[in-house]
Amino acid sequence: MENRLQLYNTLTKRVETFVPNVDGKVAMYTCGPTVYHFAHIGNLRSYIQEDVLEKTLRYLGYDVKRVMNITDVGHLTDDADAGEDKMLKGAQREHKTVMEIAKYYTDAFFSDCAKLNIKTPDVVEPATHCIPEFIHMIEVLLKKGYAYQAGENVYFDTSKLKEYFVLTNHSEDSLLEGVRDDVDVDPNKKNKNDFVLWFTKSKFEDQALKWDSPWGVGYPGWHIECSCISMKHLGENMDIHCGGVDNIFPHHTNEIAQSESYLGHKWCNYWFHVHHLNDKSGKMSKSKGDFLTVSLIEGKGYKPLVYRFFCLQSHYRKPLEFSYEVLDQMTAAYDKLVKRIASLKKDTPVDQEAFAVYRKQFEDCLCNDINTASAITVLYDVLKADISDGTKFALAESFDTVLSLGLTAAQAEEPAAEADDELTAFVNAKIAERAEAKKAKDFAKADAIRAELLEKGIQIKDTREGVVWEKI
Ligand code: AMP
Ligand code: ZN
Repeated sequence: MENRLQLYNTLTKRVETFVPNVDGKVAMYTCGPTVYHFAHIGNLRSYIQEDVLEKTLRYLGYDVKRVMNITDVGHLTDDADAGEDKMLKGAQREHKTVMEIAKYYTDAFFSDCAKLNIKTPDVVEPATHCIPEFIHMIEVLLKKGYAYQAGENVYFDTSKLKEYFVLTNHSEDSLLEGVRDDVDVDPNKKNKNDFVLWFTKSKFEDQALKWDSPWGVGYPGWHIECSCISMKHLGENMDIHCGGVDNIFPHHTNEIAQSESYLGHKWCNYWFHVHHLNDKSGKMSKSKGDFLTVSLIEGKGYKPLVYRFFCLQSHYRKPLEFSYEVLDQMTAAYDKLVKRIASLKKDTPVDQEAFAVYRKQFEDCLCNDINTASAITVLYDVLKADISDGTKFALAESFDTVLSLGLTAAQAEEPAAEADDELTAFVNAKIAERAEAKKAKDFAKADAIRAELLEKGIQIKDTREGVVWEKI
């Protein structure tokens, strides 16, 4: 089939024509969540953009197989094998077992994805299900001389590679300068960038999940899971590997190092990275304590799909700054768009020629390195065009298979949505008034506002992340 998609490839640092290994078929891998906490809306920006990439490929006619891992073991708080175990930290925080934490936050992740119309990948595999595969890959790496045992851990030897920094412009020196004072350099490592494949001697004596291995009872490093899980389901040649930009180094750099050393040939041709969502204070992260979740913005009265709309209005390779002011503007624009589509007389005839012209324009925008903002502009052009309502509706429905903004499904619910909008605006105004009263230390007024809302069946709660409300 014709390959029209132009995609930026982190590996070559160029926009290139995407050509899969097998004509018409795409093997795609996504680094999944570390399930020790809720995903924040920054993480979900990456998953939204990867979802759009997958749906674009399907829209263009490719047969896509997409695989995602769930990191339920081995990811430390520092990507360079230092710091604490994220899963153990989550379990201690909530007085639960690691597996309970993993189950709870895996379910929460997919529930957030469903609210954002993110399709579940064809294969989802937790790291803890693949221990024999990890052990096998490590055994081969040891046999081939790419790995060594030291201090009872197994390390990957980066000095054995012709080129280690294939995805970045890092150099050994700049990394050495970058070593943080608070992160101890592991004395077992032969080279600064060597990374752990298997931990047996770890500082986590209370590590909850451990497995037997040829090197003793222990657990895998983080990077090995993505190499093994992708090969298990997609074979030795992959087309696209995705993640957020923070995954480029060390995670994806290490994945390439171990995968290509294991295979003895090139592994993945295209690397797709989504830039970060920031808030006013910088990059959003789970470790900062306060972070924005889908439930939080929903509790504040925003529709999750408005957040998706917000993400699609900007390019995935640019940083995006989140603010409630912009989300308010997006809500107004989204509601107007949905209302406009709902008002179409959808049963009028479809002009096939016009349909093909606009579909081609829409595809061209996506083929231009997934330019979702201009793809949405084509939708606005369609709504303004001198064509039948039936054609407009059919195009909106077709575009929404990629955009997934619930553009046409909202039709039947329109009157209820309008009532909801009014209620949301009213409650938000009251919450703002109460915040002002609290600021002015007028607690009687703040309490009166809370009571007034309660009388109307609205309960408000002060949480760490701000005020949320629900109908009771
Ligand atoms: P984690 O659950 O921490 O392993 O991260 C899940 C995904 O979210 C990875 O692909 C990260 O690269 C990505 N990610 C992390 N922080 C952000 C952010 N602030 N904005 C966008 N993507 C992010
Ligand atoms: Zn990964």
